[in-house]
Amino acid sequence: MKEIVCKLLVIGAGPGGYICAIRAGQLGVDTVIVEAGKAGGTCLNIGCIPSKALIHAAEEFDKVRHMSSAPDALGISVEQPKLDLAQTVRWKDGIVGRLNSGVLGLLRKAKVKIVHGPARFRDGKTVEVETETGTQVIRAETVVIATGSEPVELPSLPFGGPVISSTEALSLTTVPKRLVVVGGGYIGLELGTAFAKMGAEVTVVEATPQILPQYDAELVKPVAKRLAELGVQVLTDTKAKGLSGQGDALLIETADGREQSLPADRILVTVGRRPRTEGWGLEELDLDRAGRFIRIDDRCRTSMRGVHAIGDVTGEPMLAHRAMAQGEMVAEIVAGRKRSWDKRSIPAVCFTDPEIVTAGLSPDEARDQGLEVRIGQFPFTANGRAMTTQSEDGFVRVVARADTNLVLGLQAVGAGISELSSAFSLALEMGARLEDIAGTIHAHPTRSEGLQEAALKALGHALHI
Ligand code: FAD
Ligand code: NAD
Repeated sequence: MKEIVCKLLVIGAGPGGYICAIRAGQLGVDTVIVEAGKAGGTCLNIGCIPSKALIHAAEEFDKVRHMSSAPDALGISVEQPKLDLAQTVRWKDGIVGRLNSGVLGLLRKAKVKIVHGPARFRDGKTVEVETETGTQVIRAETVVIATGSEPVELPSLPFGGPVISSTEALSLTTVPKRLVVVGGGYIGLELGTAFAKMGAEVTVVEATPQILPQYDAELVKPVAKRLAELGVQVLTDTKAKGLSGQGDALLIETADGREQSLPADRILVTVGRRPRTEGWGLEELDLDRAGRFIRIDDRCRTSMRGVHAIGDVTGEPMLAHRAMAQGEMVAEIVAGRKRSWDKRSIPAVCFTDPEIVTAGLSPDEARDQGLEVRIGQFPFTANGRAMTTQSEDGFVRVVARADTNLVLGLQAVGAGISELSSAFSLALEMGARLEDIAGTIHAHPTRSEGLQEAALKALGHALHI
């Protein structure tokens, strides 16, 4: 049996793990990373990147289809387009492949040793990996658990046959005629919208009274409007009960207690993700938990000395950029630097149509903390760039302390608005006040002018409204 001894061992090469290993390698830490699947983890292989690729392809197809079906305001006419989803998926796989090798290249450049295969703890300092060439034992001073998450399965709708998770949905080679999506959260709405644009008849079944229940109703309104325009049927307050006898319909219970059957060629279940805590010997470690997640402190230390955990396995928000920020911090700590989690903002973007972006506190969250707030909101109907790109739905909103004008939170909904997330986070990290945003020259004509106008509005002197 072969044995490697190293200073740092990272388990899982998703965005949390690979960033941790790269940074540790850059800092001269003798690092090994173990990955059971492909470098890049959920995000790169079956998550962020492939979903955004399909969303883009669907958007392009929908645009052309729209131009072909009605006289176009811009004066463009085209023949009826066709979509070859198998080709779209090959294109998406090409991007994933490029990024896969990119991550492996970056790891090698940082002199990180990569071991392929599933890792299993023997004890807090020793791991066994089943590689193609036999069992590899790795002993390390510090171990970072970055095993990520996996889709939640509903007991009444186990994955298999027509019932699929996001992983299968991202590799379908034909567009299902009727797609029922169970769960109107991030994945359900991002992918549900994409499939509706590709021509599927989509129904979304959401258990709570609102789709995207994590956002306030005002932010979600433009998304709900667009779903209706795309012909997506949205059933809120509705429970999925199971598959019909023939397996060709979803049985549901609606808000008023009626049982109904929704014919479906595919049923995409997107009701959340759970930490991957099984199959790698967690029981050998006896780590404290926070619910189903591994409990960590402000340095991503677990309850066991020398064992850190980062990313989805440690809890919400389960976002790639949070995992990466944790990975970078832990690498620096292992290299002897003084670091702790002091981030003021983890921005979140929902890539629906239109997109939603949030950072910091919403108006309700600020009020719940007993803060008196000043709110400024600017609609894209008053923004020249939005008019010239034919997408005027949505707004930018700023939430600030009423006494000091310190910005507490920023939210926006609108086409392409995900790119504002960096301005939002920067404002929060730098402790911006309304006057800072209002006094910054924003290039014209851009949607980002909405941010400046929202700050001006909160100060009582918006210029374009
Ligand atoms: P993961 O990316 O899950 O990586 C964990 C890795 O560990 C995997 O590669 C796994 O194979 C490996 N592993 C697990 N156990 C072992 C073991 N025992 N031995 C060896 N290797 C092991 N987030 C965003 O921020 N933006 C988005 O737009 C976005 N879109 C998404 C779309 C979809 C469809 C999905 C499913 C997720 C999306 N996410 C998005 C969430 C994002 O993918 C995760 O937050 C992120 O991947 C978490 O990173 P991680 O490093 O914690 O874990
Ligand atoms: P989610 O938590 O975003 O949404 C799940 C939805 O399913 C919720 O609205 C919930 O009320 C609903 N639900 C739960 N049980 C149900 C049931 N039995 N019947 C009907 N509805 C039910 O989860 P997700 O969409 O699976 O995504 C998982 C995680 O992945 C997200 O929380 C996020 O962290 C990450 N993600 C992020 C992005 C992004 O950043 N753009 C995109 C995709 C995924």
